[in-house]
Amino acid sequence: MHRLIAVSLALLCACLPGASLPALAGEDAHPVAPPPACVNNKGETVSFESVEGGRKGLAAGMARRDGEGRPIVMRANFAAAPEPFQKFIDRHECAHHQTGDVDMPHPPRNGPEHLMNEAVADCIAILRLRDEEGFGEAGLKQVSEALAADMKGIGFPEISVSSRLRNIESCFSRDGNAAQLIAARLKERGLE
Ligand SMILES: [Zn+2]
Repeated sequence: MHRLIAVSLALLCACLPGASLPALAGEDAHPVAPPPACVNNKGETVSFESVEGGRKGLAAGMARRDGEGRPIVMRANFAAAPEPFQKFIDRHECAHHQTGDVDMPHPPRNGPEHLMNEAVADCIAILRLRDEEGFGEAGLKQVSEALAADMKGIGFPEISVSSRLRNIESCFSRDGNAAQLIAARLKERGLE
């Protein structure tokens, strides 16, 4: 357990200058990937819903509770993103439910707590793609390229893009899986 906590602290350092959300994507019409299984830290099933709006040509996701308090992930413009990146966005947003972010007060935007939440969500997403979807280096590259293109298109500085990609790459090559990272995160927060 000590090792997992150390790893999440290392994530913070790798990610501080960058990573804001939601995750976003490209131009052409792509088939839309089926959503992944997603259960939050309270055992509630998270549903995925396509929504209108958002920035044209950019796929985006948002994790929240709906008007009835049900946990959902909103998917906007997913057909604009290559399928591997859609899958990344889904799992990133799911991670905000799995780690309890959705039910906590939103930390100040781009402050250290917020960036940590984003770094952990990115890490969980890429580990799930590696371990559950069989993503190898080629899949990692597709995700990284789509993410970088969108972040640059939106106007993120290069250092934000590169630090976020570095975190994702380092997560991809680490030992341990998404479930362990989620468990460590919940323990840190007293939500286990
Ligand atoms: Zn996020």
